[in-house]
Amino acid sequence: MISPGNATKMWALHGPTMTLDAGIVMVGGAGTVTIPDPCYVIRHPRGLVLFDTGLAPEAQQDPVAVYGDLALHVGMNFPEDQKLDNQLAAIGFGLRDITHVVCSHTHLDHTGGLHLFPHAKFYAGAGDLRYAFWPDALDAGLYRRHDLEATRGFDWTHVHSDLDLFGDGSIVILHMPGHTPGNLSLLVRLTGTTFLLTADTVHLRASLDNIVPAPADYNSYDAKRSIERLAHLRDSLDATVWIGHDPEDAKDFSFAPYAYE
Ligand SMILES: [Zn+2]
Repeated sequence: MISPGNATKMWALHGPTMTLDAGIVMVGGAGTVTIPDPCYVIRHPRGLVLFDTGLAPEAQQDPVAVYGDLALHVGMNFPEDQKLDNQLAAIGFGLRDITHVVCSHTHLDHTGGLHLFPHAKFYAGAGDLRYAFWPDALDAGLYRRHDLEATRGFDWTHVHSDLDLFGDGSIVILHMPGHTPGNLSLLVRLTGTTFLLTADTVHLRASLDNIVPAPADYNSYDAKRSIERLAHLRDSLDATVWIGHDPEDAKDFSFAPYAYE
């Protein structure tokens, strides 16, 4: 049953930025684009949910030490106040307050903070963790196995299809394979707004408008179908789409301390 408003508040945490060739994040993309790397915190009566965990906090002082030359190739800019632990503290939460962590996919710009929440319940798309340990050679640079090794003993649930997290329709994990084998988006129904948090199902608005996948997608056919589904959900639910990496969305929406209700 759908009970709008049970997910009472949502904060978006901006995160570090990366400056890279737009052709990396969308087929046919041209020019340079500076993209944010946000995480989202959703407060529900039954838990405090974190959607994605960004870059590793330990990389803040020296990204090259953690990510090697990739940090230079993607122009990582990582101010101290954008460390995930600091961002949570800034809105009044400690690490132990997070009860559920949804990992949209296992690329390294989304897995850096997983290890901070050993007490939480974790959700990943089926096949994503396995693939991260033995990716195709072309994809291998997109994963940081260390982030995932640190979570081996954690309470992971592998999501095979859409999963209504609390059974009331307010936070629904959407199975959107293609970008990676188990890529996920998140539907959040607040009292005032229904958000479709795309994560990397798409990276730029043009990708959703024109149903265009990304060059690094694991399976372009599936990726295109997931983008089509995203567009359909946007229209059928009259949802507000927030594309995490899109710089225009980052300008149009509000980040913490602002809370959506
Ligand atoms: Zn990403």
